[in-house]
Amino acid sequence: MRNMVEKNQEKVKEVMKRLGEAYPVTGPFLDYTNPLELVVATALSAQCTDERVNAVTKDLFRKYKTPEDYANASIEQLERDIYSTGFYRNKAKNLKGLGRVLIDEFDGKVPNDFNDLQRLPGVAKKTAAIVMSKAFGSHESVAVDTHVYRIARLLGLSQGKSIEAVRRDLNAIIPKEEYLQINELMITHGRKICIARRPKCGECILLDICPSGKNFDK
Ligand code: SF4
Repeated sequence: MRNMVEKNQEKVKEVMKRLGEAYPVTGPFLDYTNPLELVVATALSAQCTDERVNAVTKDLFRKYKTPEDYANASIEQLERDIYSTGFYRNKAKNLKGLGRVLIDEFDGKVPNDFNDLQRLPGVAKKTAAIVMSKAFGSHESVAVDTHVYRIARLLGLSQGKSIEAVRRDLNAIIPKEEYLQINELMITHGRKICIARRPKCGECILLDICPSGKNFDK
C-alpha cells in the first residue's frame, strides 16, 4: 500500500500541473534589482499588497541603495518613507536593524545562506526561502505564507496546524526546484479563486481532487 507521502507527491504534481496551466503568468510580485532590494521589499510586504509595496519601493530604492543608507537613516524618516505599507514602526525598526546587521556581521552583503538570512531583523523562514530562491537560485524551502498554508491544508496536502508543520510537509513532497513555483502558484490561486473564507469552489479547477471543496459549495 502506498504511504501518505507518495500519495501526496502524486497529488501535488497534479495540482501544480493544473495550476501551471491555469496561471502561465503568476504575480504581480515584488519589484527588485538586487538581493538587498528583495529582502527589503519582502520585509515590507507583510500585511501589505505587492502593488502597494512596489509603489513605495519605487522611491525608497532610489534613496536607500546600501545597508549604510538604512543603518544611518533616522527612524522617523524611515517611518515616513514606508508609512503606507502599514505596521511602519516595526518595519522601520527592522530595516534600520537590517542595515546594521549586514554591516556588522556580513560585510555589507546579503548572505547567501538560508540560516544566516534568518539572523537579519524581520527575516524568518518564509522571507529567507524566497530570497534564497529568487536572489541566489538555491531552493531551500517552500515559503509558506497565509495562502500557501490555507490551500495546502484545504487540499489535504498537509494536516499541519502551524506554518512550520505545513512547511515541513510540503518540503517533503515537492521537488526542490519547484519550491518557488508552488509558492507563486498557490498565492495566485489564493488571490483569484481559493480566497480566504469565500473560496469560489464552483470555478476551481481543483474541485474534483480537493476534499474541502464541497464544504464551501453548500
Ligand atoms: S475546491 Fe474550493 S477549497 Fe478546494 S482549492 Fe478549490 S477553491 Fe479552494
